[in-house]
Amino acid sequence: MSDNTTKEFTAASFYEYLKEGKFMGVRCGACGQLAVEARAICQKCHSTDVAWAEFSGKGQLATFTCISIVPQSMAEKGYGRSNPYCSGIVILDEGPRISARILDVDTLNPQRIKIGTKLQLDIEDLSENTPALAFRPE
Ligand SMILES: [Zn+2]
Repeated sequence: MSDNTTKEFTAASFYEYLKEGKFMGVRCGACGQLAVEARAICQKCHSTDVAWAEFSGKGQLATFTCISIVPQSMAEKGYGRSNPYCSGIVILDEGPRISARILDVDTLNPQRIKIGTKLQLDIEDLSENTPALAFRPE
């Protein structure tokens, strides 16, 4: 199963691709629907005629929240009251929306973070076993 087109449509495959530097979603051959969540069935028309499709990794910020009361796993990375992290919804250029961490924004002054900011996927941050998707301004 080394051929890219034959990976199973699972979250595990999604993360494998990410580690290869590829941000992959699933495109439906029947209706053209694109999805970030890797599933073997189209969420729109329920066709099983789906294939992997690579996203550009570009998008824009739709909404966000800066979080200063952080879970333990984030506290261990240095986030907290004095260093909040930003969680947002990104509208990919290809259409789908995904939730992701937003890096390199002024989380202590969230009024400076602008909806519509153009973002680029940051794959280098994805070194963990179940990495969180992260974007940073272009
Ligand atoms: Zn479909």
